[in-house]
Amino acid sequence: MIKIKAEILCVGTELLVGEILNTNVQYISKKLADIGVDLYYQTTVGDNFKRIKECLKIAFNRVDLVITTGGLGPTMDDITKEVVADFFKEELELNEKYYDKIIERYKLRGFGEDISSGGKKEASIIKGSKLIENSIGLAPGFFFEKNNKKIIVLPGPPKELSHMIDNEVVTLLKEYSDDTLIMKTLEIKGIPKGKIDDTLKKYFLMSNPTVAPYAKEKCVHIRVAMKGSRNNIGSINIKIDKIINEIKGIYPQALEV
Ligand code: AMP
Ligand code: MG
Repeated sequence: MIKIKAEILCVGTELLVGEILNTNVQYISKKLADIGVDLYYQTTVGDNFKRIKECLKIAFNRVDLVITTGGLGPTMDDITKEVVADFFKEELELNEKYYDKIIERYKLRGFGEDISSGGKKEASIIKGSKLIENSIGLAPGFFFEKNNKKIIVLPGPPKELSHMIDNEVVTLLKEYSDDTLIMKTLEIKGIPKGKIDDTLKKYFLMSNPTVAPYAKEKCVHIRVAMKGSRNNIGSINIKIDKIINEIKGIYPQALEV
């Protein structure tokens, strides 16, 4: 099985100006971790052709798979697909099924059948790509691959995004990973981080499972994480629990959170 390295590219100026919280990136990251896809970078960029293209160039120099979210709507500022098409030197093509869905929606709302060019744009995906169904919205997603560069393009609305990740994308990506990443976290109160660093040093130097400290406002979190085959979840849990119990032996006040 080939291992792939991934990057998430969130598109939307509203994210950069702090207007909305980037919940999509957290949602996608968590799901990628669950299925053991290595996520190396998360990038956010505004609705700007040149900068989105630059992000794609940078991303494909360091990962094999880019997952984009946002910028698939009917308006002029939604340009993700256009940039992706330009980057791969491919054409966009109207998807009849989604075009019909948009016409239906227009009719329902009393706008007749004469859908704007924005509707056509919204219903288009890259020629030769694999459609990723959006059963609760109007903008289709797609998977495209060329010269070992893989891209998954998804819409921004969080409900649509999460539904598509759960129902379409996870299945698609399981082809590239049969791993899972399991994490458990301990919370230790009343001990300074520096002291914990010293005491648990040998754990922090381990790899798979990895043990890492995160200083919080009034406590320290110790995260124990291990990656392995989805068929071996039992033995991964045993290894993680062994470390958790050792740390609880050192710090009896540690609580699993
Ligand atoms: P767009 O696909 O760019 O037209 O985005 C549609 C809507 O989805 C935006 O108005 C945002 O409210 C929301 N949205 C876009 N990107 C994100 C994101 N990364 N996290 C949460 N919400 C988002
Ligand atoms: Mg947008």
